[in-house]
Amino acid sequence: MTSGLLDTLLRADPASDQHLTTHRRELHAAPELAFKEVETAEYIAERLDALSVDRLETGVGGTGVVADVKGERPGRAVLVRADMDGLPITEAGDLPFRSGRRGVMHACGHDVHMAIALEVARALAENRHQLPGMVRFAFQPAEECAGGAKPMIEAGVLHGIDRVTGLHVWSELPLGQVSVRPDVVMAGADQFSLTIYGKGGHGAQPHQTVDAVAIAAQVVSALQTLVSRETAPASPVVITLGSVHGGTAANIVAGEVVIQGTLRTLNRELRMHLLARIAELAAGVAAAMRGRAEFRHESAAPPVINDPAMAAAVAEAARRVVGAEGVVGFEPLMVGEDFAYFLEARPGCFFLLGGAPEGPRVGHHTAEFRVDERCLPIGFRVMSAAVLRLLEG
Ligand SMILES: [Zn+2]
Ligand SMILES: [Zn+2]
Repeated sequence: MTSGLLDTLLRADPASDQHLTTHRRELHAAPELAFKEVETAEYIAERLDALSVDRLETGVGGTGVVADVKGERPGRAVLVRADMDGLPITEAGDLPFRSGRRGVMHACGHDVHMAIALEVARALAENRHQLPGMVRFAFQPAEECAGGAKPMIEAGVLHGIDRVTGLHVWSELPLGQVSVRPDVVMAGADQFSLTIYGKGGHGAQPHQTVDAVAIAAQVVSALQTLVSRETAPASPVVITLGSVHGGTAANIVAGEVVIQGTLRTLNRELRMHLLARIAELAAGVAAAMRGRAEFRHESAAPPVINDPAMAAAVAEAARRVVGAEGVVGFEPLMVGEDFAYFLEARPGCFFLLGGAPEGPRVGHHTAEFRVDERCLPIGFRVMSAAVLRLLEG
């Protein structure tokens, strides 16, 4: 029965391709920033409502939208997640559907994710009589600041769900390829700040002060030894200290300096270890120099780690669409993704959809970001096949 449904979903369908392009372009032209996806959520809710889904809920965990499509046959419950937010970037280039909003752009491809999820919802809703189990579509706010997944989960979006899946279009993965990794897909991304407290004073009387700039300099150097001296060479780790602010004038010893940084790791235990060590090392260095360091964990996303069995099932489904040669294991990315929270709570698989445009390489999060739109029908078919596989196996 399901193989009949799979055949239906994989069949060439110009109307379906048109839906995908329309959704993607309309959403691309009207991007919204994290937690402000109001019109985006309306667009999605209207489309889902028109499908007569079995349950539709808006305002979930902020601006999130959730819809259930219940099959008429027994099966598991699978959640498909699509993120909704754009980025604070003004789009370059002259696409006919370029962002109509200065300073906001779908520069990560979340418009593609939404279009694919909407079309999978339509296809499954129209074939409910053949569908086993239940598929929940979760349109999530605020992926870019890693703030949207948790509130949705806290709002109960995973209640009754057995397995989770999602995809990210990737502009550096060739069109026609899908990357399904059996383990880590993306890094844990943590942001932190360290406030160094000393004692300010006259620049000519350093002995009467505790120089927070001098302490900060030592802290900056010491933190890199966590990568070079405390982490196994085969474990990729990045500690970037992207901003250091302190002091007011050349002849005044600064009493306070704030360092901001990010930690990227591919391993859950290593991540927790290094977060603790950053705080400990900074505090120790500052204390040794008569100052004090205060660690603040500003934002967090754990590493995105697939369940091996779920990944094998999704890879098998993907091969039906792109062939064995089209399913690859792209190297783990050091970027973060808060789908990690879904994967911590349920077994699942997050995969990359090749969307590399023709011409020079374009990076995500840049004004020049583009994808090859031909990835839309591929993504729709791979996601459809993956969902059916996860509902059954
Ligand atoms: Zn992004
Ligand atoms: Zn993204």
